[in-house]
Amino acid sequence: MITLCKACGTSYEVTAGHPQSCPICEDERQYVPASGQAWITPSELRAGHTNKWRQLAPGLLSVETVPNFAIGQRAIIVQSEEGNILWDCIPHFDDATQAIITALGGLKAIAISHPHYYSTMQDWAAAFDAPIYLHADDKKWIQRDSPYIHLWEGETLDLNSHVQLLRLGGHFAGGSVLLHKAENGVLLSGDIIQVAPGAGSVSFMWSYPNMLPLSAPTVAAIAHRLKDVRFNALYGAFEGKNIPENAADIVRQSARKYIECIERR
Ligand SMILES: [Zn+2]
Ligand SMILES: [Zn+2]
Repeated sequence: MITLCKACGTSYEVTAGHPQSCPICEDERQYVPASGQAWITPSELRAGHTNKWRQLAPGLLSVETVPNFAIGQRAIIVQSEEGNILWDCIPHFDDATQAIITALGGLKAIAISHPHYYSTMQDWAAAFDAPIYLHADDKKWIQRDSPYIHLWEGETLDLNSHVQLLRLGGHFAGGSVLLHKAENGVLLSGDIIQVAPGAGSVSFMWSYPNMLPLSAPTVAAIAHRLKDVRFNALYGAFEGKNIPENAADIVRQSARKYIECIERR
């Protein structure tokens, strides 16, 4: 049977009960709640939650769970003539979600920024017979094996003629973003690049909940990596984390500000 960690949404296969602990929560980038680790089955989750949909831009749909569950992850569906791609994954997967995605044409692939979004990816993949692309550098964080998981290595992976994954590292060694080359370019960043509350800047952290920063050279490397990547819009890991215009400049300026702050004496 499957059980989910209530704090982070990671799913585990168990014969009964629940695991001793959640390695994702016990990692220094996440946390075990002060009230202790708690678990929920998918059917218990379905009884009290639903998914809501929003069109972020033409061909870009976000899926978020209400009421909020785990870290409040959102997933984004990138629609394309070459097939739909699920970017990042959320724990809650129900019949309505399956019916809506099927009506949209199903999923050609699932790609995930980093382990905080692995959630129930194995179940989404099985439902749509879709491969899951995870960066090999984060292999040790996979908690449930699946025949659908494909590990990729190196710095880029083309998912189709318009969509490419870029490994940026930082928050996780295999931390990746999705570049959609349509229009003026759209970057789906997970929290490898975190959109700040005013949506006029971004940040880059080792741990967001524990407020642990990345080093200046790491952030400089991320900025350098994006130097020649063309994108105008950026959509982050959570609801409302959207930069609809001028995102490449905002990322550049934010990286500069970050480095200036962390090197201050
Ligand atoms: Zn957890
Ligand atoms: Zn994260």
